[in-house]
Amino acid sequence: MRTDPETQKAPTPKLVYRFWKYTRSGDGCWEWTGALSKAGYGVLSFQRRTVYAHRLSYEIHFGPIPEGRLVCHHCDNPACVNPSHLYAGTERDNARDMVNRGRDRHVIPPVSERARGEVHVRSKLTEVSVLEIRNRFAAGENAVSLAREFGMTKSGIAQVTRGITWKHVGGPVLRLTQADGLLRRVHHAD
Ligand SMILES: [Zn+2]
Repeated sequence: MRTDPETQKAPTPKLVYRFWKYTRSGDGCWEWTGALSKAGYGVLSFQRRTVYAHRLSYEIHFGPIPEGRLVCHHCDNPACVNPSHLYAGTERDNARDMVNRGRDRHVIPPVSERARGEVHVRSKLTEVSVLEIRNRFAAGENAVSLAREFGMTKSGIAQVTRGITWKHVGGPVLRLTQADGLLRRVHHAD
């Protein structure tokens, strides 16, 4: 892990587009299919500078990287850009990750999710991704593609969009009703 030579600005739509173009999302790690740095990090060349793919992923999903923080991998896979495997850590966190190399490869989901057993064991949602899932589902995106993108099962997504899991987070909570052979998204009244 290393620091970027400069602080990145908010990702432009073009940069976001290129991020998804080179990202193979799915269960577990999202592999970067574009160029890799010598150390194995995904990189993009953008406006004559090097943008690190994992840092870009962090910015797309969580917003600006806090000053003085590094974007670290829980999964110890430098080419991974799955936001649920990333966190903004200190130099010390980063050093500890290196020590744990090979011992801590799997991200352990929160206890509540493990207990339910519906969410994929390696997925680790954050409040931010829950909101994103709800908003995008409410805007018409389908559960299968969301499931693929967030490394979850379809029923895991349904539990999120229906507010069964992550109740406290808010955002549009919907249920589906079947009418005229069409699935409709209906806001909960309660
Ligand atoms: Zn990963």
